[in-house]
Amino acid sequence: MPAARAQLAAAFRAHQRQLWLVGGALRDQLLGRQVVDEDYATDGLPDEVEAIARSMGAPVTTIGKRFGTIGVLLGGRHHEVTTFRGDSYDAGPRWPDVTFGRTIEEDLARRDFTVNGLAEDLHTGRRIDPFGGAADVEARLIRAIGRAETRFLEDPLRILRGIRFASQLDFGVEPATLSAMAATATLLATLSQERVTSELDKLLQGTTPGHGLDLLRVTGALPVVLPELASMVGCDQNRFHFYDVWGHTVATVQAIAVTPETRRLRRWTALMHDLGKPAVRHVKANGEWGFYRHETVGAELTESLLARLKMGRQESLRIQLLVRRHMDRPAPDDRRSVRRFMAKCEGHWEDLVALKRADNASHTYDDAAYHDLLEAACRRAEEEDAAALRAESPLTGDDLVRMFDREPGPWIRRVKQYLGNLVLDGDLAPGDRVGAERLARKMMGEEQRTRARTTAAG
Ligand code: ATP
Ligand code: MG
Repeated sequence: MPAARAQLAAAFRAHQRQLWLVGGALRDQLLGRQVVDEDYATDGLPDEVEAIARSMGAPVTTIGKRFGTIGVLLGGRHHEVTTFRGDSYDAGPRWPDVTFGRTIEEDLARRDFTVNGLAEDLHTGRRIDPFGGAADVEARLIRAIGRAETRFLEDPLRILRGIRFASQLDFGVEPATLSAMAATATLLATLSQERVTSELDKLLQGTTPGHGLDLLRVTGALPVVLPELASMVGCDQNRFHFYDVWGHTVATVQAIAVTPETRRLRRWTALMHDLGKPAVRHVKANGEWGFYRHETVGAELTESLLARLKMGRQESLRIQLLVRRHMDRPAPDDRRSVRRFMAKCEGHWEDLVALKRADNASHTYDDAAYHDLLEAACRRAEEEDAAALRAESPLTGDDLVRMFDREPGPWIRRVKQYLGNLVLDGDLAPGDRVGAERLARKMMGEEQRTRARTTAAG
C-alpha cells in the first residue's frame, strides 16, 4: 500500500471510522493502468472527516464539503474522502445537496457503472464487488449498475460518462446499457454546457477517441451535444475518399499522432478540420462533389462552435488557425514557400503537418512521401535560420514614426509586415536596420508615387 494511503487509513482507524478505496482507482489497478486520482468512501460525516483530515496536519480542501467530499493533500497527491451516499440517511439541513448512506453497499449501488462499483476496505484488505465489476473489467464492458434507463433518467450525464469511459479504456458498451443510452439521449440537452464539454474533452483525449465519437453517433447523442457536426453523417465525398465526411473525421481523430502535450489541441483540431464541408459541398464541372473553400468556412464555423462549448479563446484561435491552413501545400523544395507556410502556422507547423498526415490516412491516395519532404524542409529551415522565421521587422513602430515624421496609423503595420516578409524570405537579415530603412523609404516613396498618379488620373 502506498505510504500516503496507509497514513490516511491509520487516521480513520484511530477514529473508528471505515475507509474504503473506491471507483476509478480499483478499476485502473485491475487494468494495470496508472492510477491518476484516488477516491475514498467512509461512514464518517463531513465534519468528522474534516476533523480527522486536519488531525493529520496535511493541507485540507473543503470546496466539495456540501456534497460530502473532503480533500487531503498527502505525498503530493489529492485524496478525496466522501461520506457514503444513500437515499435514506439525511444528515440535516446543513448539507441540502446530498443524502448520506449507512453502508458501503448502499454507496456502491448509487454509482454509475459496474467497473466503478468495486471497493476495498483499507483496514482489512477485503474487496467487495456486488455488481460484477471485475468480470466486466475482464470483458472490457461498460454496464450500468441497476436498470440502465432509470440510471440515465436520474442523471443523463452518465450517458456521456459511459461513452467517455469506453473511449478512455477502449471498452465496449453492454447492449442493454447501449439501448438505454439511445432511449434517453435527448435528455443530454438539459445538462449544463460545462459538464457536457468536460466529458467531450475527456472523450477526445481517450485511447480510442474514434470509438467514442462513433458511440455518440450510434446512441443519437451526437445531434444533441454536437449538432454542428451532425450533417457530416451521410455527407458523401468523392473518389479521393474512402468514407463520408463523418467517417473521415472519426478516422482522422483516431489517426493523428499525439504526445501528452499536444493531445488536446490536435484531437480537437482533427475533429473540426472538415467542419465546413457539408455547408460548401457543390457539384464540380466533372460531376464530382467539390468542397471549395471548406477550410475557410470551417474555421468560421469552428469559432462559433467552440464559443458555444465555452472553450478558451486562445485555444479556439489556435484550432481555427490550423483548420484554416489544413489545405496548404507548400513546395518542399521552394525555400520561400516553406518559410511562408511556417510563418502562417505561427509556431504550430508540427501540429499542422501531423493533421495533414492524419487527414491523408483515409484518403484513397498516399501522400506520405510529400509530408516527409515537407517535414524535413521545415526542420531544416528551423535549424538554418530560426531568427528569420520569426519574421520580425528590424524596425519598430517608434523607429518608423521617427524616420518618416508621421502620425502613427495603419501604415506602420503595412511597413512592418513588408519588412517582416523580406526577413522571412531571406532578402533582409533579421537585424539589418540600415537595409530595412532603405527598403522602407523605397516602399513608402513608391506608395506615394502611385497615389499621386491615381489622383492625377482620377
Ligand atoms: P476519472 O477520475 O479517471 O475520470 P473516475 O471513475 O474516478 O474516473 P470520477 O468522475 O472521478 O470518475 O468519479 C469518481 C467515482 O464517482 C466514479 O468512479 C463513480 O463511481 C462515481 N460517480 C461519478 N460521477 C457519477 C455520476 N454522475 N453518477 C454516478 N456515479 C458517479
Ligand atoms: Mg476520479
